[in-house]
Amino acid sequence: LRVQLERQRVELRREIDEQGADPDVDELAFVDDTGFSDRSHSAEERSRLISLVRALRSNLRDVERALAKMEAGTYGTCERCGNVIAPERLEALPWAVLCIDCKQKGVMG
Ligand SMILES: [Zn+2]
Repeated sequence: LRVQLERQRVELRREIDEQGADPDVDELAFVDDTGFSDRSHSAEERSRLISLVRALRSNLRDVERALAKMEAGTYGTCERCGNVIAPERLEALPWAVLCIDCKQKGVMG
């Protein structure tokens, strides 16, 4: 699973990078970047890109959190309620940091 997560992290960073954004910065600073606007994206394309990058980044944050939890030895437990996350869920979504109950309650993550 760790290898899978690390691969996912590399993949996500690459994709964010390809969109002209910095994977390590939370703010979407690339919008004001001249390199970005020089590519003459329309406003629509731009907002589509922004939501794409936002989704990629939030996935990247989850992956990084899951990796940090592995380091800490708390991987597989819910960040919200502390319950064990179902193995099927982790198999489908190795970067899951919330159990299915908390996820469905709509709390962050
Ligand atoms: Zn939970």
